Amino acid sequence: MKSGIFDQSLMKITDRPPVIFVRGEGSWLIDQDGNRFLDFIQGWAVNCLGHCPPEIVGAITAQAQTLINASPAFYTDRMLELADKIVDCSCIDRVFFTNSGAEANEGAIKLARKWGSLHREGAFEIITTENAFHGRTLATMSASGKPQWEPLFEPKGAGFVKVPFNDLDAIERAISSRTVAIMLEPIQGEAGVVPASRNFLSGVRELSQRMGILLILDEIQTGIGRTGKAFAYEHAGVEPDILTLGKGLGGGVPLAALGAKESVCCFAPGEQGGTFNGNALLTAVGSAVLDTVMRPSFLNEVSKKGALLKNCLSDLSRRLGEGEVRGEGLLIGWVLARADAGRVVQNAFKRGLLLNAPRPNILRFMPALNVSVEEIERMMSILEGVLVEI
Ligand SMILES: *Cc1c(COP(=O)(O)O)cnc(C)c1O
Repeated sequence: MKSGIFDQSLMKITDRPPVIFVRGEGSWLIDQDGNRFLDFIQGWAVNCLGHCPPEIVGAITAQAQTLINASPAFYTDRMLELADKIVDCSCIDRVFFTNSGAEANEGAIKLARKWGSLHREGAFEIITTENAFHGRTLATMSASGKPQWEPLFEPKGAGFVKVPFNDLDAIERAISSRTVAIMLEPIQGEAGVVPASRNFLSGVRELSQRMGILLILDEIQTGIGRTGKAFAYEHAGVEPDILTLGKGLGGGVPLAALGAKESVCCFAPGEQGGTFNGNALLTAVGSAVLDTVMRPSFLNEVSKKGALLKNCLSDLSRRLGEGEVRGEGLLIGWVLARADAGRVVQNAFKRGLLLNAPRPNILRFMPALNVSVEEIERMMSILEGVLVEI
């Protein structure tokens, strides 16, 4: 690093606060001057067991001494083990590993189009929702519904039809002979933690079955215990045909997955792949994450901590006259009465609390799934101080 100027050598893609992080411990991030920050972002719901948890450190250390990478065209024990574990705890039958959520969604789009070419006379269109976030590759940006992205990087990928979220009639009207799938987040994360209603999700499932098209659920943010269940689709009692996972699956290392029901797994050899996909080091970490998170007692604790966090926020919201608290488990959004969430984030940062504002009037809370009661209380007291001051 050159003195004084932090990012002389980095492409400028976002405004970062002027501190440099050097260490992490559980719910805490520590900068190079030794300042400690209580982390309720956790890499955007990625570090599901917190910073440097012993489970992940142990898995990385042991695997790094055994086998880091064979080749995506070879089996490894770790790749097979993690695929079995995902299949055992979810509704899907087969998995393809990727290095990012966007790449998993890109694979979901390809798989649906391949399925359409085989089983629906070349149908290729995918219905997605307004304000959806599915990633930053060209196809996943095209599938996303962020209004700010509309003018960017034209021409984007064709074949995506947008409908309002939580509007079953709009989906029904959008379906044509060209439609191959509906793609949704069970809770829209980047849009500001907007849950799909249970009726909407079960309605979409019923509708897609009746029309002979696929349901793709993007659980990159909501999966792996984030909502208090292994996968958010369980809350609505529906099963997707294609499921994408990421973020928490790797607990901080770049690991994501595309999963599908047996009848949908139709890639022919050569149609899908990637250099690092299913790498032994990363899949060993995924296994360690699932061994911890999928224990019923662990998921129960996530629900309990989520309910506590939601209650604390709802109580503060009533006292201060702010808005709705929504979400499930440890993915919670709080609607503020004014569009000052950015200022709240900045002032919280000055007091050693890391929060995220996905929208100008919304705060998002996504702590480690093993966050403690004391850490939730500490967060609430810092947050109250910030809001009262503003
Ligand atoms: C984060 C996210 C993605 C993109 O994942 P990357 O790993 O950043 O490519 C896609 N969909 C949802 C719902 C996400 O939250």
